[in-house]
Amino acid sequence: MKKGKVIIFSAPSGSGKSTLVRYLMSKDDSFTFSISATSRPPRGEERNGVEYFFFSPEEFREKIAAGEFVEYEEVYKDRFYGTLKSQVEAQLEKNNILFDVDVKGGCSLKNYYGDRALFIFVQAPSVDELRNRLVGRGDTSPEEMEKRLAKAEYEMTFAQRADVVIVNDSLEKAQAELLEIVNKFLSE
Ligand code: ADP
Ligand code: 5GP
Repeated sequence: MKKGKVIIFSAPSGSGKSTLVRYLMSKDDSFTFSISATSRPPRGEERNGVEYFFFSPEEFREKIAAGEFVEYEEVYKDRFYGTLKSQVEAQLEKNNILFDVDVKGGCSLKNYYGDRALFIFVQAPSVDELRNRLVGRGDTSPEEMEKRLAKAEYEMTFAQRADVVIVNDSLEKAQAELLEIVNKFLSE
């Protein structure tokens, strides 16, 4: 029997998933972050093998054909993202794992891991606020940003599929809520 528990974070881009994942990892060292593969180029200071494994779309398609993913999605056109089996299988023998995935990936992982997983949906107060946050983050081109915002309302409808919804309005409040929810889940 595998040991680790699984926490899945999903939300529209800009909601604050990465911020909350980083916070949780700083507070609880029992978690390993699942490094996904993607066919998008690195953004800002991102490094291969740290935030993501970066591949060309062709390389990504070869890995799909070779059955190397637990799940993958074409989240935006020609922008593939996926969870590599090689990343999670060994880790879960000894650690808890955190996933930051799109809403469909979140549903797939929840189906796959069942009660061993907690599916957390991070909700920003509004689409306008998502825009403000993406602009504030300063690493997304206007074209890329529009693609992300165009999908946000649809993605928000997935909140009902999650085990819990954390509203990330006040960051401090969301962080406190997150710790409480995760501690309860880990103690069950
Ligand atoms: P995601 O990973 O969901 O795309 P990020 O964690 O990168 O989102 O957050 C997007 C931007 O919003 C970042 O610049 C982050 O610092 C900021 N941010 C996160 N949470 C809040 C919050 N509660 N209030 C205001 N800004 C926030
Ligand atoms: P970003 O380009 O902002 O890093 O990520 C874009 C979207 O892809 C986010 O919603 C993020 O959670 C999602 N994502 C990242 N990795 C994966 C993955 O392995 N699988 C799936 N399905 N989505 C992912």
